[in-house]
Amino acid sequence: MELTFNFHSPEEEIVSPLYIEKKVRIYVKRDDLIHPYISGNKWRKLQYPLRKALKQNKQILVTFGGAWSNHLLATACAGAKFGFRTHGMVRGEEVNNPVLALCRLYGMKLHFVSRDQYQDKTSLFLHYFGEQSDNTFFIDEGGYSREAAEGCAHIIEELQQDYDHICCASGTGTTVAGLQLGLEKANLKTTLHTVPVLKGGAFIRKEVENLAVDPSGIILHTDYHFGGYARTKPELLEFIRAFVSHTGIMIEPTYTGKLFFAIDDLIRKDYFKPESRILLIHTGGLTGFLGMYDRF
Ligand SMILES: *Cc1c(COP(=O)(O)O)cnc(C)c1O
Repeated sequence: MELTFNFHSPEEEIVSPLYIEKKVRIYVKRDDLIHPYISGNKWRKLQYPLRKALKQNKQILVTFGGAWSNHLLATACAGAKFGFRTHGMVRGEEVNNPVLALCRLYGMKLHFVSRDQYQDKTSLFLHYFGEQSDNTFFIDEGGYSREAAEGCAHIIEELQQDYDHICCASGTGTTVAGLQLGLEKANLKTTLHTVPVLKGGAFIRKEVENLAVDPSGIILHTDYHFGGYARTKPELLEFIRAFVSHTGIMIEPTYTGKLFFAIDDLIRKDYFKPESRILLIHTGGLTGFLGMYDRF
């Protein structure tokens, strides 16, 4: 089967009294509109690995994630769409939630594994699938890989105009690595920023380097993790509520909420020069909201 799934997400300007006061123009690249479940950057990241799997005649995709993982759901849905069977290795004891239910609905078989076992994904893969390894295709947690980064580089090729700054949230660093690749390829002078959503976000630089991408031009804003991965604070939730109700664009507390909060805060502190044109990459992530719906 061919991977025919092409959608150029629009760039949309958003306005607020703060942006007007500080004379900055803010645009959002709406990768959240690519697909409801093969969310944003997860489609970008799966594109080349899935092509490779098809080429190698693999029929089964095996991947890894936490119980609320956007990547597990994206893989389940993409598997169903492009004719693969899918297995998801889920970190921690057996639970059920809307994300896992959607994974199952799309036909993914779930295996719950202890946090200890989960540490060593290669052993886990061999243990469960060693005998069918001819037929199975391994995709790392969060889709982390060089090919995945190359998929994210397409974001830059699609842009309709030039920006002074491009900003995204980071979990594994694959997306920001891809943006860096795209900027290099297009020979653009745009400054690239990222907001790590985990504590100690300086590690992103190393992760980018491990994908054979030069991280030296990337500016990390490491103080917007709100306590760590999937952690939140009332001021973040309040910001998200105000943002969503004023723009009609959904953001969630795990990734995009932290990104948009950080950029607003930097604008308020006059970090960006007046007249700057700033593009925020909306990487999707409805499931981040589902995981915290009781806070809203
Ligand atoms: C997975 C995810 C990210 C993190 O992307 P990385 O490439 O792992 O850095 C960002 N935003 C959303 C919405 C995600 O689901």
